[in-house]
Amino acid sequence: NQDFDVNSAARNWRVDAQQTATPSELVNSLFASDVLTLDQLKARLSKPDYRKLQATVERGETLDSSIADTVALAMKTWAMEKGATHYTHWFQPLTGSTAEKHDSFLNPAGDGVAIMSFSGKELIQAEPDASSFPSGGLRATFEARGYTAWDPSSPAFIIRHANGATLCIPSVFASWTGEALDLKIPLLRSIEALNKAVTPALELFGASEGTRVSSSLGAEQEYFLIAEEYYYRRPDLVMTGRTLFGAKPPRGQELEDHYFGAIPDRVLSFMTDAEMQLYALGIPVKTRHNEVAPGQFEIAPIFEHSNIAADHQQLIMQVLRTTARKYGLVCLMHEKPFAGVNGSGKHCNWSMATDAGENLLDPGDTPHENMQFLFFAAAVIKAVDDHQDLLRTCVASASNDHRLGANEAPPAILSIFLGSELTDIFERIVSGKGGRGKQTGLMGLGSSVLPEIPVHAGDRNRTSPFAFTGNKFEFRAVGSSQSISFPITVLNVIAADAITQLTADLQKRLGKKGATLEQAVTDVVKDTYKKYQRIVFNGDGYSTDWHEEAEKKRKLLNLRTTLDAVETLVSPKNLKLFGDFGVLNERELAARQEIMYDIYFKTVNIEGETTEYMAQTAILPAAFSYLAELGEVEVKSKAATGTTKELVQLSDTLYDALQELRQQNEALGGDEVHEKAHHMRDHVLPAMQQVRAAADRLERIVSQKHWPLPTYRQMLFVK
Ligand code: ADP
Ligand code: MG
Repeated sequence: NQDFDVNSAARNWRVDAQQTATPSELVNSLFASDVLTLDQLKARLSKPDYRKLQATVERGETLDSSIADTVALAMKTWAMEKGATHYTHWFQPLTGSTAEKHDSFLNPAGDGVAIMSFSGKELIQAEPDASSFPSGGLRATFEARGYTAWDPSSPAFIIRHANGATLCIPSVFASWTGEALDLKIPLLRSIEALNKAVTPALELFGASEGTRVSSSLGAEQEYFLIAEEYYYRRPDLVMTGRTLFGAKPPRGQELEDHYFGAIPDRVLSFMTDAEMQLYALGIPVKTRHNEVAPGQFEIAPIFEHSNIAADHQQLIMQVLRTTARKYGLVCLMHEKPFAGVNGSGKHCNWSMATDAGENLLDPGDTPHENMQFLFFAAAVIKAVDDHQDLLRTCVASASNDHRLGANEAPPAILSIFLGSELTDIFERIVSGKGGRGKQTGLMGLGSSVLPEIPVHAGDRNRTSPFAFTGNKFEFRAVGSSQSISFPITVLNVIAADAITQLTADLQKRLGKKGATLEQAVTDVVKDTYKKYQRIVFNGDGYSTDWHEEAEKKRKLLNLRTTLDAVETLVSPKNLKLFGDFGVLNERELAARQEIMYDIYFKTVNIEGETTEYMAQTAILPAAFSYLAELGEVEVKSKAATGTTKELVQLSDTLYDALQELRQQNEALGGDEVHEKAHHMRDHVLPAMQQVRAAADRLERIVSQKHWPLPTYRQMLFVK
């Protein structure tokens, strides 16, 4: 009964939700209260021990293992004060989610006595069963074992549950032969590579020696919320995270009344609850609002060091998912849970900054800062053009394929939006015209060679996959459900590559007699922009004209599907790039490709089988029971016979499509994982589409009483 469903789906959630309201004056003291900060450790360690730890955490020096026991003891004491009974190495395997295996602090000491202990050895290393995590063949060729190791550069924290807490120790995961089995090791390596590439350039611009550089990252997370009641009645959502059926409701997002609208009470309560937990974890969440589609929302933290941001992003997803349940809601992170309405992304705002906090992509307010900015911005332009394939690949997944290019998300073609002001500046440099740009309110560069830069260049464009937004680049193709670790790794390494090349060029020019920094930078920027301006596009990325122009005129890559993209991952160019910068060796990269194929194959395979199962066991039977009911109508009216006829036709269409899908589900297309993946893309997805088309038409005909699935109308609008 539809009415009953709505009542229970929109039930009085206040009864379930725990009272978690935090008085506003306590919110700031809540911040990072569940994080083992350096300050906390300082208070618990001797001065010399603390200094050794600090050298590792702040300057990346190798950990002095003699302090491990002392640090472990301090950690355990702190964690127990917070109510923790267990600890876990918390890591990011190649599944894209996080992994944890809890061990208790408890140790029997004989004669019915137990003590709570935690040793340096346990802190530094653990050995989960590596064979249950994807390794892309890395394990087959070596030992089956892998180990996790404490990453002191990210702070430990407490995860709470109703009956206690667990100490989580951020860790990396590797094979005994030293190969990365996780997403974190390459990320850390890429941060180091970026540092090595940028510092020589910065020194040319006069930075003091010893300056360290890293990337900064702020990720905006989009998600959907639906009533839990509906979720459990949708096998497709439970099994695959997206709806495999569902007719478009009469009203979608056309009215544009949801975006930035008043947040429903239940949702706002959920958001606040989640935010309080995130504050305790030291995650600086800042922004919350309704997104474009009905039922869609966004949360965004303030940017952080990209290593920390990557950990925090995983925690944000986890806290949103678990907290939603307290409010009778389910948080959907899938990139395209509902066909025909907006999908979800995770815009990654990326920049480079020194350890003193100087943002290298901030135009700044002095001619010198402007010059430096133009150099690094030109490097990013070059990086994106040189490595379009990698930027496409690092966001590639079966789920993101439904979003990229689907008219409300950036296309699969990579391009950069610079905005008219910054484009104008680069164009002036190329044409040799310095002076005042076309905009007003600009600051002077005091130079005739370089144009002036507006204080806040960059404006709004939602259709570009990669946009300059004032003092950072925003990579918008990243999918809502994915880990941001690999995308950041790619951003770091392609930037390192371009900066290394441009720095060599700059050094060469500076070596010439009479060269000035200003002229040399101008020449480098000019040549770079001239060569790479095809990647700059400020227009509408959703338009078909752009796809034509990008492919035919500009010759930009258009890697439409995940499989087209993943194929490029181990090209000679990419092997050299990741190898030269010490981020991933050939075997590690090949393993990642293998895993991407495998996950793609498994994802679509599960979708194909779920589609078959739902159509056969729920949708066809609904059509039949309605047919039976119509058969009982005594007066053979035009309406009754018409509907019967239509139902019979559509059921047959559905049945035929189902036979085809069943065949395709059974055939796997080959033994190799990439053959299976291609079979999924080329045969299973189209067959699923046929089944869905017939089923969605049936949904519009079959009596509501008989329809077995909650509809889009219900899921998206009941709040
Ligand atoms: P916009 O509205 O243009 O998207 P916001 O100022 O709201 O810009 O920022 C969006 C995200 O970008 C936030 O997470 C913010 O912290 C992040 N951000 C701002 N500056 C930087 C930076 N220098 N590096 C990385 N991320 C940044
Ligand atoms: Mg933004």
